[in-house]
Amino acid sequence: MPSPSQVYRSTRSSSNETKSFEEAVIQGLATDGGLFIPPTIPQVSEETLFNKWSKLSFQELAFEIMRLYVDPKEIPDADLKTLINNSYSTFRSNDVTPLAKNVTGDKENLHILELFHGPTYAFKDVALQFVGNLFEYFLQRTNKGLPEDQKKKITVVGATSGDTGSAAIYGLRGKKDVSVFILYPTGRISPIQEEQMTTVPDKNVQTLSVKGTFDNCQDIVKAIFGDKDFNSKHNVGAVNSINWARILAQITYYFYSYFKATGGKKDKVKFVVPSGNFGDILAGYFAKKMGLPVKKLVIATNANDILDRFLKSGTYERSDEVAATYSPAMDILISSNFERLLWYLAREYIANGDDLKAGETINNWFNQLKTEGKFQVNQTVINGALNDFASERVSNEQTLETIKKVYEISENPKHYIIDPHTAVGVCATERLISADNDSSINYITLSTAHPAKFADAVNNALSSFPDYSFDKDVLPAELKKLSTLEKRLKFVEKPDVTLVKAAIEEELAKMDL
Ligand SMILES: *Cc1c(COP(=O)(O)O)cnc(C)c1O
Repeated sequence: MPSPSQVYRSTRSSSNETKSFEEAVIQGLATDGGLFIPPTIPQVSEETLFNKWSKLSFQELAFEIMRLYVDPKEIPDADLKTLINNSYSTFRSNDVTPLAKNVTGDKENLHILELFHGPTYAFKDVALQFVGNLFEYFLQRTNKGLPEDQKKKITVVGATSGDTGSAAIYGLRGKKDVSVFILYPTGRISPIQEEQMTTVPDKNVQTLSVKGTFDNCQDIVKAIFGDKDFNSKHNVGAVNSINWARILAQITYYFYSYFKATGGKKDKVKFVVPSGNFGDILAGYFAKKMGLPVKKLVIATNANDILDRFLKSGTYERSDEVAATYSPAMDILISSNFERLLWYLAREYIANGDDLKAGETINNWFNQLKTEGKFQVNQTVINGALNDFASERVSNEQTLETIKKVYEISENPKHYIIDPHTAVGVCATERLISADNDSSINYITLSTAHPAKFADAVNNALSSFPDYSFDKDVLPAELKKLSTLEKRLKFVEKPDVTLVKAAIEEELAKMDL
């Protein structure tokens, strides 16, 4: 029997049906439109945390954490260890997610958690390197011993506005029985972003440059997912931000960085997380609920501030339009993973601990969101959320000022350069440091991308410094080299779903997986 934290249910379900880890990962989204969650969050004692886990490597810690959420009958210990080790061997740092300390000069207790040492230089690699291996592992097991024409193959289709497609591609490149097609709007992504996606030589990867906007690309992907015939023929899959395995993989760095920042002792720690779809910070919520003594999880948003408004008013309300900011990976209308937190809050504060009633509540709220564009929760629920969370909203101007300020005052290393998403987090952290006025608190700000990925904002902030040079100070050799590699892309001359489907089928035939 799996333990209660090793089975999953949908946030919108009012039945007792549960899924295995494998089903939750492969299916992604529940058929009722909800997200998969473990209704029971495993508990870890302080004894285990500070006498055992605090001494583990990143990979060992990932194993201990994941083991609690995955039945050993589904993935035996040895296999889970191999999956973890393979996933993090692609990172450029031995710590996988190292801490940079004291980058703001006088503030000894501000730590930057660098999550960008994976293959695409962004935090999504921490999850997607693991998810890619997990997909392959499950497929290989399903397909074992089957003749070639009966093997299950998955065709992953996704759209990107530039930042996130590469992490999916690098997670799935070369994986058996999986192909990946990423659509992006022609001419509307930066040269580095395009190079990262189009220079991958693996034959199971194909980028589609679509003449149109990002919204066009996203609509086409949605239409493909809704196309029953195409779906049953090609087994269309997604690796979007709501996949449970992504959240799971991200829990590790909350524990790991806590121990690094505090020297393995119990101490006061606040995490500050640049947030969009709420996937990153939600992993912190799981860490806190498992028993890691975190004082607060602080949501840092840009002008797309639905989460900040919710915590202040209790109203979850979609804006009419996305604001384009310097931190585009956080430009969202609603935060898809927030539904998971709402489920735990609804169960505790509305449903008296009843899973089924929590599902009903979420269903009602999200029906309201669909029909009226918003819903309101009562003060008890907001207070519950405020036990664990706080929030700060950061403007475009403050984002650039923060990049500049950190560059100017950082001592160790000197002239530390942060990307605009990280700047949103650092700006929020500085506000907290002033407001708390308590030097015994450790602040860990999550750095979600390498500055080279967001050249425009970084140059905008720093080009007035005479010594500053993007090529010399920011651009890693590995990314520089990409411009010399051969590009592989297929051009689609109209944002038309029929054309895109034809392109996918033509390329699939050539891939001959
Ligand atoms: C995806 C992303 C974020 C936001 O993370 P969420 O899990 O969506 O909250 C922040 N910064 C960067 C660079 C990202 O790619």
